[in-house]
Amino acid sequence: MRKRFFKFFVLIILSIFSLSCVAEIDPLSGKKTYTLLSTQQEIEIGRKVIASAINENEGLYPDREVQSYIKNLGSKIASVTPRQVEYQFFLVNSSDINAFALPGGPIFITRGILLKMENESELAGVIAHELGHINARHHAKFLEKTYGMSILVSILGIALQDSKYSSVILNLAQITGGLLQLKFSRDQENEADALGVRFAYDAGYDPRGILGIFEKFKSLERGQPIEWLSTHPLPDTRIKNVQQMISTQYPNSSRLRQNSQSFIRIKSVLLASKESYDYVSEAKKYIKNNNYSQALSLLNRSIELYGSNQAYTYRALVNLNLKKYYEAINDADRAIDIDSLYFQPLLIKGIAQNRLNRWNESIATLEKGKNLVRDNPDLYYYLGVNYQAIGNRNKAIENLTTALEITDGKRGWETDAQRRLRSLRGY
Ligand SMILES: [Zn+2]
Repeated sequence: MRKRFFKFFVLIILSIFSLSCVAEIDPLSGKKTYTLLSTQQEIEIGRKVIASAINENEGLYPDREVQSYIKNLGSKIASVTPRQVEYQFFLVNSSDINAFALPGGPIFITRGILLKMENESELAGVIAHELGHINARHHAKFLEKTYGMSILVSILGIALQDSKYSSVILNLAQITGGLLQLKFSRDQENEADALGVRFAYDAGYDPRGILGIFEKFKSLERGQPIEWLSTHPLPDTRIKNVQQMISTQYPNSSRLRQNSQSFIRIKSVLLASKESYDYVSEAKKYIKNNNYSQALSLLNRSIELYGSNQAYTYRALVNLNLKKYYEAINDADRAIDIDSLYFQPLLIKGIAQNRLNRWNESIATLEKGKNLVRDNPDLYYYLGVNYQAIGNRNKAIENLTTALEITDGKRGWETDAQRRLRSLRGY
């Protein structure tokens, strides 16, 4: 019996080992290496986090020309990098001064950082730096070190079908949070700088662009928070290293491209919509203090100037809080039409439909939302309530249970969810 158990145990260990170790060619050194995460799995994880990253950064910037400009510039630089993964480039609405990448290829540039840039070589420098992190597998190394086997279980969806569903959601939530606040080490920053300078240069951009950004950040540092610096520390030695590297290894850099007509046009598009976004930032402060009427008038002004998905989403939220459910649905629909990857308006629309007793419509909306962001507790609560209302007992129990298992306990509906579950289970 014991022997049999031992054999079984060895078999388990071996299968875990074969599951976890992948031999791949390191794109930078060209040598064979063993990794826990395969490139395919890394791409898979990155893909799962895209919608959360967009949601946290308040949606995609609505202008198609701007998005395709970012995509073309990014793809051009990515094409000179040794690692070929699923590169994607997004400009997000956030006014934070930030840029970041996800494992396996997605790269995000905020509206806030682009507004601080003077020319195309600066944007190229920031994108090339993020490409440096992806090429050096810094995200994958973070995931391997922090989560180990549990990420493999999550991404391979081993437990997705069974009753441990909420533990998978919690795993994913943890990984999403970790990736969106990921801090790299000093060595990793230096490595990404060196690669970024090389990639920008090889793609035909003046590699001193990144130095322009560094200087800008140093001068802004005292006046306003710079999110990019909180995840990419910038000590003076780092700037000196890059200066020295460029002057010794990249001669004639000044002859490379510094700016373009496209950059100038894109920047003017962003500047033209800035006032509208500033009204949203102000409205958010009033929303925080539950001053919805003041928030509403600011959001009306914002939408008059430029109807962004972000402004429509916040106005939908305000209307929801003012119990104007039809208006909330209308605004949410405008936001969804502009940006189908934005989770927040789907959640607001689903809640408004729930309040109007439109159970089936609310279910359809929230299930769509679940395909984008899987770890939102409110989503499961309202799905549970809807399913209970249409008499689908199993789905009601499943969603309410998940809601309670993943909530932070401060959502306000916890007691109601427990009461519903007791009555659904018949005790
Ligand atoms: Zn960095």
